[in-house]
Amino acid sequence: MSDSPSIFTKIIAREIPADIVFESDSVIAFRDIAPQAPVHLLVVPKTEEFANVAELAVGNPSLLAELVAVAQQLAMEHTGGQFRLIFNTGENAGQTVFHVHAHVLGGNLEEGTLGH
Ligand code: AMP
Repeated sequence: MSDSPSIFTKIIAREIPADIVFESDSVIAFRDIAPQAPVHLLVVPKTEEFANVAELAVGNPSLLAELVAVAQQLAMEHTGGQFRLIFNTGENAGQTVFHVHAHVLGGNLEEGTLGH
């Protein structure tokens, strides 16, 4: 199911370009290439060990907490602090990249829009 290295690992390695907005030792964030909202960022742990948020929650809860903290920080910088956080989990839920990532959506979101 998962490609290795994932497309996000290739972004982390600078093998493919991305509009990177944040980077630490453990987390990277960049603009989604196909934005679904005025602000659409992806927040991604650098490890591709976890395919989805459920695996991450069990395997490394503090890294999940860090991901959420980075999402909050980026939302403060990019969308005034209000945001929607989406983790598509599973193919039938729209997940296409099996390297866990949070979608941070912001900026005049319509009520009832749950992302893509
Ligand atoms: P998901 O469908 O939840 O797995 O999300 C994967 C996301 O990655 C989609 O929203 C894609 O638009 C985005 N994406 C795929 N390739 C790239 C890329 N090279 N740079 C930035 N975002 C990407």
